[in-house]
Amino acid sequence: MPVHITAATLIEALGAEGYRITNARRAVCEVIAAAHEEHLTAADIYDRARAQTGARLDRSTVYRTLEALEDSGLLSHSHLGHGPSVYHLTEDSGHQHLICLRCGETFTLPEEETSSLADAIARSTGFILDASHFALSGLCAGCARAGTT
Ligand SMILES: [Zn+2]
Ligand SMILES: [Zn+2]
Ligand SMILES: [Zn+2]
Repeated sequence: MPVHITAATLIEALGAEGYRITNARRAVCEVIAAAHEEHLTAADIYDRARAQTGARLDRSTVYRTLEALEDSGLLSHSHLGHGPSVYHLTEDSGHQHLICLRCGETFTLPEEETSSLADAIARSTGFILDASHFALSGLCAGCARAGTT
């Protein structure tokens, strides 16, 4: 079973990747660990980490830290639309994203809801679907009711 990912887990993983644990990197780990249900971009993580440390914080430090955490397998990114990608702890990343092309709102769907599609694709093609990496686009219920004109 996956272990619950905390800031301490992330900090430990950075250490294992050979990174020195600075206040800036610690702050990035704390922001990510606290953000379970949210969809934070690298810029959001930078803003929060900076607010939290009050210290000077390099954008490139944030990007490199995110990269290192992805390498460690504890963090993953998803593409919701045309904008920058968002980050999830891998323990929270098992959901499908739905994005409305009209109002831009993002919705999440538990992985189980798309598992029959993934199974059908695997059966007929052998392709293993990663449904959480890219969002599915369409119209939300409200926009669909309002019509498409
Ligand atoms: Zn998500
Ligand atoms: Zn990607
Ligand atoms: Zn909509």
